[in-house]
Parts: sequence; structure tokens; C-alpha cells
Amino acid sequence: MYVFHDYETDDCSHLIDSIQAGPKVGEIPRPIPAPLTIPDPGETTLDFEQNQPPQEPDINAIQRDGQEISYAKLAGPNGDFAVPTMEELGLKPATTSHRGGETVALKALDEIIANEKYTATFEKPKTAPTAFLPQATTLLSPHMHFGSLSCRLFYWRAQDVVTNYAGKASQPPTSLTGQLLFRDMYFGAQASLGYKFGQAYGNSHCRFIPWHLPSQIDPQTGLINGSYQTDTPLAETWFHRWKYGITGFPWIDGLMRQLRHEGWLHHLGRHAVACFLTRGGCYIDWERGAEVFEEWLIDHEAACNIGNWQWLACAAFFSQFFRCYSPIAFPKKWDPEGKFVRHYVPELKDFPAKYIYEPWKAPVVDQKRAGCLVRGDGSTVAEEGGVKVYPRPMFDFDERRTVCIKAMKSAYGVGLYGDHPKVLDGTWRELFPDDGEGPTEGKNAIEAAMSGSKTRIMKDVDTRDGDMGVDEDEGEAAERGGEGRGGDNDNNGVEDEAGDTGIKARPGKRNREILVNTGKGKEKGQVTVDGLMKGKKVKVKR
Ligand SMILES: Cc1cc2nc3c(=O)[nH]c(=O)nc-3n(C[C@H](O)[C@H](O)[C@H](O)COP(=O)(O)OP(=O)(O)OC[C@H]3O[C@@H](n4cnc5c(N)ncnc54)[C@H](O)[C@@H]3O)c2cc1C
Repeated sequence: MYVFHDYETDDCSHLIDSIQAGPKVGEIPRPIPAPLTIPDPGETTLDFEQNQPPQEPDINAIQRDGQEISYAKLAGPNGDFAVPTMEELGLKPATTSHRGGETVALKALDEIIANEKYTATFEKPKTAPTAFLPQATTLLSPHMHFGSLSCRLFYWRAQDVVTNYAGKASQPPTSLTGQLLFRDMYFGAQASLGYKFGQAYGNSHCRFIPWHLPSQIDPQTGLINGSYQTDTPLAETWFHRWKYGITGFPWIDGLMRQLRHEGWLHHLGRHAVACFLTRGGCYIDWERGAEVFEEWLIDHEAACNIGNWQWLACAAFFSQFFRCYSPIAFPKKWDPEGKFVRHYVPELKDFPAKYIYEPWKAPVVDQKRAGCLVRGDGSTVAEEGGVKVYPRPMFDFDERRTVCIKAMKSAYGVGLYGDHPKVLDGTWRELFPDDGEGPTEGKNAIEAAMSGSKTRIMKDVDTRDGDMGVDEDEGEAAERGGEGRGGDNDNNGVEDEAGDTGIKARPGKRNREILVNTGKGKEKGQVTVDGLMKGKKVKVKR
């Protein structure tokens, strides 16, 4: 099991060693066979008066369009203890084509195991994030999340194939069993830190990085309270364009639309969108991204989601922040024709392959021939006359990568972790350049983002020189197409000004909320791009 790095000595146990050490903790037990029958429940007519449990807070409210009636009676609405239907749960119809249940899970596992070569030689970095129908990896994660597949059963069936394989089998961390060890590694990390694992503030193992849109902290508990600060309206706009797949970068948009509609993404697809949102594009708090994944993933697993977001943001587990995923070069290497983008971003389906990842570069005559014009900010999906519209890129990627790498260097140089006194009291700002990326401006501005207690100013603080030298390596992801030191030379040629949103950040003014006119009165943040997606006029009030 993974041992978290020692706080006192800053000894970061080598991640890959820890994955390879997994089996050394002892033999992983074989699964216990599932029962063939279950006990007769006896009389299920429970006709005494029953109270429905309170429904507030309803954390699934966002997913409902009907009333939740599954708890109306103890034995369910039909008195038969049956698994409630989506309708009985009041949930919206599923948009994903992925199906659940133990029968489906065991059949999928059987098919994977029957393919000995695939199982024994599986190497995660060689599986294509652009593959769909079918995908390149097992897609068994939702089953493990919902309990329709036992992790031990998966592990042992794969391991038995490896043991008996005549050829050269792959090994952890890239092999199939290596993936399951990664899963356990994150569970172990979560278990050791408890609630604090899920946030940067107060987390002794998560680097403090002054991202845009930082979480708000409940000063009583020191825990995130579910809200965040809109330090610049522009970051808020980027966040919502990212969430709803209208960034103007087809690879990112295709992935986010796949996530929203199907609830699942290939691991390297998750890498691409997570890197883009955080240290390789928007410089937005990984906690915002983790929340979106939590909302939409059908395999959402708090430990794996949070741990992987920290990894991708270079906040924990991984530190090579100078390696960013290009939204152009990376997918091009896997899928030069852009089949993935054509499927998930159908307005671009007839674009020439040459422009599929950079449609803004296509001459207008080619755009017209492909039946889609590249313009605007995603608020319109069609022009008058029915010509489709795809947005211009929301920023110049090369520029943003440079800004992010510089900001990451600065944050690593300062070297704070989430439990540092200066993070806890908000005085961390003194250590960052006023004009740095993120809500850093104003050395004297102790209030605002990431501060629980706002008044305490510490003396003699230990800044624990950022451990730039930590020798972490992802191992599992060779990041094919990911950029080498300092980024690639791939100029994405964005011609317009960064943003192109009509919304400009106002330096020095924090804590503004975007008020959006949705036609139903003014609402905050969340609805911004809902409005955009519906083609409604969005007004930003200041
Ligand atoms: C930002 C981000 C968020 C993620 N959130 C989740 C999440 O909420 N739930 C989740 O199960 N996985 C998460 N992952 C890990 C990984 O992407 C998925 O487990 C994997 O893509 C699931 O597809 P699969 O079943 O085809 O995986 P396979 O490649 O077939 O791997 C087999 C199994 O190993 C486990 N596994 C594989 N890679 C990882 C990993 N890096 N971390 C943890 N477990 C792994 C999964 O249980 C998976 O089903 C996340 C990754 C990233 C980068």
C-alpha cells in the first residue's frame, strides 16, 4: 500500500515503487463466491403507517425532474423491495449508452479475459484516448463503483491470465492489474487524510497554488463549503465554456461533451481536460474540475477523482508541470483524421482533417463548404438560415501555457502546502508577485480566497522550499503527444485576442459574481453557459 510522504523529512516515497510494492503487502485475497440464492424476505406487506424520511438537503436535486417516491414506503413504491426505477427516483432519463448490472459486468469481464493477449499485454499508455465504440480500455470502472463487479474478482481473473501467459506479459504500473493498484493507492491516500484529502486548504500533502475560482472555506470547520470565489469573471466564463464543451478547442469540447452525455472518459482524455482546466490553460482550481467530474462521471469514486485531479494539477503525486497536453498535437497523434471530434462535435463533422483540431485556421470558403462557421463564443449554435456555428478558441493556447508554467514555477518556488499557517490565515499573498496569475494581487490584502481565519499573521513561518526535485514520474502515462520541457513548438495560431468573450477581467476587483439574465431573472455563475447553450443572451452585470 502507498505510504504518503513523510511530513517531517519531506521524504516523498516514490510513487511507482509504491505501486510495484502493492503485492508485497501480502497476497491479495481471492474473492468470496457470490451467494447463489438470497434468503426469503418473508412477509413484505408492511402496511403500518410510514413516514417518509426528510428530503432536504437533496444533493441529487440537480439530476431530478420528477418527485422522488422510492422511499414513500419501506419496501419501495410497489412493496416488493425492488431496485427503484429512474422514474421512481424522480431522475431525468439517462443519456449514456453504458449499461449497469452484474450480468452486464460479468459478461464484459468474461469477454476481456477471453482475450488473453489483450489482458496479459495491456499497457495503459498505449491505449488510445480517441477510441470510441468500442473504447480502448475495459470500461469496468462504473461496475466497480456501483458494486456490480468485485475488484478482487477483476484482479484475480486478470492475474491468472498473466501467470499462465506464454508470451511476455506487461507489469504494473502500466498493466491491467497495475491499474487496480492505482485505484487502491488513492483509497489508501484518502484513508490516511480523511476529509482534508478532498481539498487543498488544510491538506498537508497538497500543494497550495493560487488558482482562479478558489473554494470558499467554512471558518468553523476548515472545510470547503461547496461555494467558490469568482476572482475574475473571465475565469468564470472559461470554466463554464470548459464544462459545457464550447471552448473552441474541438478535442477538449469533444471530451467534455462525451463526459456530459455518456458519463465516462478514457483516462488520457481525463488527463487532457484536467490539465487544460488547471495548470495547462485556464489556471482554475482543480476542485472546480473535480466537482464537475463528480456530477457527471458514472464511475465517480471520490478517492480516485480527487487524487487524479491533484495529480493532473501537479498539486500532489506528480510535479512535472512543464509537461502540458496540447489540445492540438496530442489528439493529432492518436487520431489524425479526427474521427473522435467528428462524432462528439458533430457541427465539425465535415471539416477537412487538416483543420479538425484548429478549425479557426480554415479559410472561410472551407468553413462554408463544411457547413459550419467558426465565430463567436459558443452562445449561438446556428446562424440565421441554419448554418452551424462553432466558437472561436477562448484563448491562445500557447500564450496560456506560458503563463501557467510561469505561475506554477512561482508557486513551486514559494513551496506552500495546504496546511501551512500562511495558507490557513490568508497571508500567503505576501509571498507571491502582485501581478502573478491567480488571485495573488495585493500583498496587504489578507482577506479573500483560501483564508479561514482572516486576521492571524504568523511570524517565522517555514516555507519548506518547494521540493522541485521530487522525482515523480507518472509511469503509466508516457503522455504521448504531451509536451516536453517548455512545451512544443506547435503554434496554434490563435489570431484573435485572448478571451473573445466580451467579458474582461477587472484587475484588483475580487469577489464579483457573474449575474446572468436567463430570462428567469438574474442568477449566479452556474447558469452562465446554460444560458449560452440555449442561445440566450448573456449579460454580465458588474
Ligand atoms: C482527472 C481524473 C479523474 C478521475 N476520476 C475517476 C473516478 O472518479 N473514478 C474512477 O474509478 N477513476 C477515475 N479516474 C481514473 C481513470 O481515468 C479511470 O479509472 C479509468 O479511465 C476507467 O476506465 P476503465 O475502467 O476502462 O479503466 P482501465 O484502464 O480498464 O483500468 C481498470 C480499472 O483500474 C482502475 N483505474 C485505472 N486507472 C486508474 C487511475 N488512474 N486511478 C484510479 N483507478 C484507476 C479503475 O477502477 C479501472 O476500471 C480519474 C482519472 C483522472 C485523470
